[in-house]
Amino acid sequence: MDLKTLYREVILDHYKTPRNTTPLSAPSCEADCRNPSCGDKVRVQLKLDDGLVSEVAIIGNGCAISQASASMMTEAVKGRRVAEIEAVMEEFRRMVMGAGSEADREVLGDLMILEGIARLHARVKCAMCGWSALDAALNENGSDVNLDEDTELPASSQH
Ligand code: ZN
Repeated sequence: MDLKTLYREVILDHYKTPRNTTPLSAPSCEADCRNPSCGDKVRVQLKLDDGLVSEVAIIGNGCAISQASASMMTEAVKGRRVAEIEAVMEEFRRMVMGAGSEADREVLGDLMILEGIARLHARVKCAMCGWSALDAALNENGSDVNLDEDTELPASSQH
């Protein structure tokens, strides 16, 4: 099995069996993200304990990339400090938006599997949907993000 096939298998596995999908009964914060151009929706719920994400849940539907990326996101944030998560979010955004310089493998770990998204401009918003909801949950609790109104993503992914 070559690496590309392995990556595709991992993405399909997360899509078919997304992790952390049991809604939290009392989340500390949450936010929704919609990506209307593809029909993706992801709600992220977080339980924060002393600056640490002790529990995370995603409730969503949409394409394989959006749901797999959100599922992988939950595994990347669970049990970690908010400050660390902010660094992972920033590095992930840089990677899928194809910021040019090499992505930091140490920060991203398994998320490197989604590196190829940077070459599929139409799918960048799909990959960012769960992450945008995560960002909003942490920084603007209760907000709804609409990626069609987000001018930051399409502009940067064109270059
Ligand atoms: Zn999508």
